[in-house]
Amino acid sequence: MTQMIEGQVVAAFGRRLEVRDASGAIHSARPFGRQLDAVCGDYVRCEADAAHGQLNAVEVHSRRTGLFRSNSRGRAELLLANLDLLLVVVAPLPRCDPFILDRYLSAAHSAEIDALIVINKADLDGLAALQESLATFSTLGYAVLTCSALTETGCHNLLSSLAGRSGALVGQSGVGKSSLVARLSPDAAVLTGELDRKDTGRHTTTAARMYDTAGGGRLMDSPGVRDFAPSIRHLDSADLGFREVAAASPDCRFADCRHMSEPDCAVRGAVDRGAMDPRRYESYRRLRRLQDELWTAQTPSTRRTPGRPR
Ligand code: GDP
Ligand code: ZN
Repeated sequence: MTQMIEGQVVAAFGRRLEVRDASGAIHSARPFGRQLDAVCGDYVRCEADAAHGQLNAVEVHSRRTGLFRSNSRGRAELLLANLDLLLVVVAPLPRCDPFILDRYLSAAHSAEIDALIVINKADLDGLAALQESLATFSTLGYAVLTCSALTETGCHNLLSSLAGRSGALVGQSGVGKSSLVARLSPDAAVLTGELDRKDTGRHTTTAARMYDTAGGGRLMDSPGVRDFAPSIRHLDSADLGFREVAAASPDCRFADCRHMSEPDCAVRGAVDRGAMDPRRYESYRRLRRLQDELWTAQTPSTRRTPGRPR
């Protein structure tokens, strides 16, 4: 058995990992000890455990990025590591919930992962209305790509945006994420069956697998990733990952302004002047209240009070 292997986790099913080394060979490994938490996308060092005839992943190298979800018990749980691009999928049907879109975009912004909006099902009526309703996001600088997993229109644009990068498709159920994964990666159709919600047990993380895409990129995917609820705890506390809030906030009177009811708030000023979309601001407020509830429930004494002057 090989003594030592460096590689990337390309599949994680709870405590079972598949690690791809630099030559492309795949090795089975197990995380060593309870503390070692390796997820899909992680770079790990593995050592042979001759006594048990297996490879142990003994070290996880530092992560470029980490995407966290809120699990069924409300705890933050690492979902994917070293992700470069979050592709947030919407469609004319099911009807797009812009608040869900905001949540994914703010999670990506806070995690320093690029995000792009994918309008799927371009073959359906209602495309133009959806494109129009997403104009705010283009103004904010988000790229919006239009495609159809059914007719394959526009899928080459998705492949180019993934070239040389690792991405994941997320969004509401039914928008066509699994169909897109199957379109973008020749391997995915063959391998997805094994991933169907296997994450049972206390110490297991969501099963996920990384696929090579036809255009020289990677997709990380699993049923648990596709419509995950982003962890509110991991949102950037100053702006909750809202780009326009981040841009306006240096002009707020207080350095730690929460942009809720503080005086001389530049973010509210931007909304009043028509420079920030009121719907986005309402979405920001919802998320802020959710975050407050979370902190109050868990750490009542450490809640900070605003009012520190610049
Ligand atoms: P997911 O829940 O986001 O993974 O969505 P699925 O990939 O399971 O797709 C949901 C439904 O939408 C299925 O019936 C697909 O056949 C259909 N679908 C997916 N992509 C397209 C598309 O581009 N156009 C149309 N018309 N239907 C699509
Ligand atoms: Zn403010």
